[in-house]
Amino acid sequence: MFNSEMPPTMMPVKVNDNAKTVLSKRYYRKDGNGEPIEDATSMFWRVASAIAAEEAKYDKSPFKVEKLAREFFDLMTEFKFLPNSPTLMNAGTDLGQLAACFVLPVGDSMEEIFDGVKHAALIHKSGGGTGFSFSRLRHKDARVGSTGGVASGPLSFLRIFNTATEQVKQGGTRRGANMGILRVDHPDIIEFIRAKERDGDLNNFNLSVALTEKFMQAVEKNEEYDLVAPHSGETKARLKAREVFNMLVQKAWESGDPGIIFLDRINRDNPTPALGEIESTNPCGEQPLLPYEACNLGSINLALVYKDGEDHGIDWKELKRIVHLSVRFLDNVIDASRYPLDRIGEMVRTNRKIGLGVMGWADLLFQLGIPYDSQEALSLAERVMKFVNDESKAASKKLAKERGEFPAYKESTYGQRNLGPYRNATTTTIAPTGTLSIIGACSSGVEPLFALSFARHVMDGEKLVESNPYFKQALIDSGSYSDKLMDEVAQKGSINKIEHLPDDLKRVYVTAMEIEPEWHLKMQAAFQRHTDNAVSKTVNLPNSASKEDIYNIYWMAYEQGCKGVTVYRDGSKSTQVLCTGEGS
Ligand code: UDP
Repeated sequence: MFNSEMPPTMMPVKVNDNAKTVLSKRYYRKDGNGEPIEDATSMFWRVASAIAAEEAKYDKSPFKVEKLAREFFDLMTEFKFLPNSPTLMNAGTDLGQLAACFVLPVGDSMEEIFDGVKHAALIHKSGGGTGFSFSRLRHKDARVGSTGGVASGPLSFLRIFNTATEQVKQGGTRRGANMGILRVDHPDIIEFIRAKERDGDLNNFNLSVALTEKFMQAVEKNEEYDLVAPHSGETKARLKAREVFNMLVQKAWESGDPGIIFLDRINRDNPTPALGEIESTNPCGEQPLLPYEACNLGSINLALVYKDGEDHGIDWKELKRIVHLSVRFLDNVIDASRYPLDRIGEMVRTNRKIGLGVMGWADLLFQLGIPYDSQEALSLAERVMKFVNDESKAASKKLAKERGEFPAYKESTYGQRNLGPYRNATTTTIAPTGTLSIIGACSSGVEPLFALSFARHVMDGEKLVESNPYFKQALIDSGSYSDKLMDEVAQKGSINKIEHLPDDLKRVYVTAMEIEPEWHLKMQAAFQRHTDNAVSKTVNLPNSASKEDIYNIYWMAYEQGCKGVTVYRDGSKSTQVLCTGEGS
């Protein structure tokens, strides 16, 4: 038997102050008085040993499990790869729920709706986020057969989910996050588009409108389209597609909500259409899932694969090793996880979806001296992500040989085309890495830096101040570094208005708001081309951005093959997660 006690020879893990704050507040196991009973070293060992222990099902040698536990431990404690937060929090604990992303169905009956509320509460308690489509609910004022009364419509039920979420703090760790989706052809679509008009309304939900191909074509041709009652199939009204599209743009300009997803495109890439249609994503949009499906994510820190002198400055051999080990890790997570409902467990084990992604992308570009908003960065994005995606598929094939293919393989689109066998129905997803990037001390996901030096509001009003380490080093190397300068950068966030700094530094160290919106979008599209699931990306716009800018971004997202898009205009919400010195 594998002994999961931490070997005494383990080197203590070093984490920076920001990571320490986040970890001790939310990730470390606590005693009855709320005091942490573990540190970074014992936490990562708990996770590494619990995930490696799953290997025993496939390989009887205890040495194999111990060796793998050490490999997982090193992989995480060198911060080359981190699994999503629930895995770090719950692996090896009694709760044992390890996935970040869930989608639940909302059926058109009281029983089904309130089952959904209950199931969401159970998931939130375990640290997961939930997505729902409300498209199957009959519209407001439709007849209700059993009582002869009228229905209150999707929005009224959405508010119940929102309130329930408010009451369930996620096991004292994080508040439940939700995605609410409504199809653009639902009769209540206008009310849905306006649902977050008032600041603070439905604040436990991100909302996205599911756009169909038919709708997009009607926008293009300036035609009308039908609003269809979901329960009867009756056409209830016709709207001008372009007016609805413009309204979406207007609302996104006002507050960032709702976002949009391209539903037909998501379903075109559904690997298991025989098991049902995809109708929603997880809360941040990067993971489309079938009803009752869950997915665990993990992210590779690209900042750490930089190697001077290698092809394109990247240590490809090491990246390949990291991808293969990470895929094995994430596949083991599926077996190690205890799901809040049996039905979810069954669904997850049928498709075995995992979502390996990347973070630290902006940090890698800094080290390479490549501006984020450049053709060179786009080409490299494609190259890196294609490599990660291809290697993740190779790793999944290898696991299928060792452990068997995912049970729905034969009826999947891979099976139909004889591409496999694969162990996992999907392997890649690019997550926001909101907390993982703090723990890994790298830039988040594939986003540019919000500011070179900034205050980050996290957790109940606490504030963390950070400067980008590559930026600091570049200032030292160019002889420009001084405390006064760092103060100025912290105030301004960016360096483009600081006169005496060299132009090449200004070109490389660009921040989110200085990058033209279309470059944000092009970067999202570049990563999407080599990602099975979706890419979490916010197109950050300056406060001065126009509605036309947003219209163009939405249209570009459609044309460039993105699965959805989220925009945020600076200052358009009263609380922002990130802010520069000037704003805080
Ligand atoms: N998520 C959640 N609550 C949160 C943050 C995240 O439920 O407060 C879920 C949600 O499904 C999101 C996913 O976790 O899309 C990944 O988010 P992120 O990468 O930021 O999570 P991390 O692992 O860095 O905490």
